[in-house]
Amino acid sequence: MSNLKGKVALVTGGTGGIGAAICLKLAESGAKIATNYRNEEKAKAWQAEAKKAGHDIAVYQADVSDFDACQTLVDQVEKDLGPIDILVNNAGITKDGMFKKMSKDKWDAVMSINLDGLFNITKPLVEGMTDRGWGRIINISSINGQKGQLGQTNYAASKAGMHGFTMALAQEVARKGVTVNTVSPGYISTEMVMAVSEEIRNSIIANIPVNRLGTSEEIAALVDFLASEEAGFATGADFSMNGGQHMM
Ligand code: NDP
Repeated sequence: MSNLKGKVALVTGGTGGIGAAICLKLAESGAKIATNYRNEEKAKAWQAEAKKAGHDIAVYQADVSDFDACQTLVDQVEKDLGPIDILVNNAGITKDGMFKKMSKDKWDAVMSINLDGLFNITKPLVEGMTDRGWGRIINISSINGQKGQLGQTNYAASKAGMHGFTMALAQEVARKGVTVNTVSPGYISTEMVMAVSEEIRNSIIANIPVNRLGTSEEIAALVDFLASEEAGFATGADFSMNGGQHMM
């Protein structure tokens, strides 16, 4: 566990799956946590559950694909909790389809959330981090952004694009105490993956050398390290955690 006492973290899309595990882990490490959501009912239920487990997580409705909403979100979080020290860009969607059937709507939906969202939420807060001389930005990409995946031209392009963003921004802010890194999970046992049939799940697992799916908690532990003081020499890097499924 890292020591994040006194730090404020914003985790986008933190009310389910990997994002929820990241929120809880960073909270255990002592950070004050804010997250945003689109689905209010799910977010409020999750917030109540986190509260029962002893964590006060601030939740805000804001769509990362909306530039103005992201500015308002950052202003509100900073007013409520203080300047944001740690940003985890986790919100993301898939809209799969083979390229010949890939509609413009599916392409645009994935780009506007996975890639424009990265710009929209990072833009209003990065200058505060550089002015204060400390910050951690962690972008949750995917194994499929590294290796491609049929049926995911939109998703793979957006996730590969995230790492381009990471490497470029890392160079711009390195001297100001701000690190920017990518985390690329392989197949993680979130609701989305557990919802596929056992047969398909077993065929996925057969391609993973460690012979199992990853857990959200394993990804959260890596994010927790990258958010720490001790990770200050890591920047512009892409950290894979995929059970050996794709070795670079
Ligand atoms: P989930 O679908 O469980 O969670 C995605 C989260 O993003 C939800 O909380 C959702 O909130 C939020 N979100 C989606 N669109 C928006 C939006 N426009 N604005 C704000 N929030 C939004 O996914 P996972 O936990 O599985 O995935 C988390 C991240 O990890 C994603 O970026 C995904 O691409 C990546 N990833 C996941 C892998 C896996 O195996 N699960 C593997 C590799 C990468 P709401 O429900 O309120 O819409």
